[in-house]
Amino acid sequence: MTRPQHLTLRVHLPAALARQLGARRKQTGQSLSAIIVQALERLLGDEDQTVFQTSTVNALMEGASTGDMTMGELKTHGDFGLGTFDGLDGEMIELDGKVFQVRADGHAHPVEDSTRTPFATVSFFKADESARLDRPYGQAEMLATVATMLPSQNIFHALRIEGRFDYVKTRAVAKQDKSVGLEQAAREEPVFEFHDVEGTIVGFFTPDYLRGVNVPGYHLHFITADRSAGGHMLDCRVADVTIKIHHTPEFELGTPGTEEFLKADLSRDHTAAIAKIER
Ligand SMILES: [Zn+2]
Repeated sequence: MTRPQHLTLRVHLPAALARQLGARRKQTGQSLSAIIVQALERLLGDEDQTVFQTSTVNALMEGASTGDMTMGELKTHGDFGLGTFDGLDGEMIELDGKVFQVRADGHAHPVEDSTRTPFATVSFFKADESARLDRPYGQAEMLATVATMLPSQNIFHALRIEGRFDYVKTRAVAKQDKSVGLEQAAREEPVFEFHDVEGTIVGFFTPDYLRGVNVPGYHLHFITADRSAGGHMLDCRVADVTIKIHHTPEFELGTPGTEEFLKADLSRDHTAAIAKIER
């Protein structure tokens, strides 16, 4: 079967966008086609290299927990990721384009596209590296194995670790009153333990220099294979899993338009507190 070399598109542009396109053409002297091809390349070409995040971990620490971005919008930036929900109402796991919420009772359930998040990190997952791990490694040894698969600790990486675990320990924050920070919310978090369980770890590695923006090092969430339970991962012991790593050298940060984000004091250093509550 031969594929066409070109595709000719006929699209209806909103008037405002058409005006902007005309202005750009005048500004740069490019053809309309060239501008549109460039825009599509930027949208689709970099997509599989980009980590997208809304808000920052320091904003959560400062209590900016009102949901801003909808799941529908978040899904346009990635099919894989983690985060939380409006008012820190549980732990978010996005896997294969479906978003799940693990509430403080430990149960996972799918959420509507209209649900909002104050903080999330996502990417379009594509495995660059893959390795099987079938030793009874604890979380630290498992992550040491992951570290050998990272060509650099100075870029983001998405991690998908899937299979059977002897043991998994998670937590889920409970919905908070407005402007309660993550540190206080995590103080009374319910903890859950799973034995001999199948499931998937959804995680990111964040470079140390991005402290304040995301959790430096590994941030892992877990969901069972039947998508019924999970949470923010605290500990595990591997039985037989596949580690998949997606290298993501591009980073896009969207900042919420909420008043509490815009007025938060984001100059404070929460590194020690974040290390304590996120591990
Ligand atoms: Zn988490």
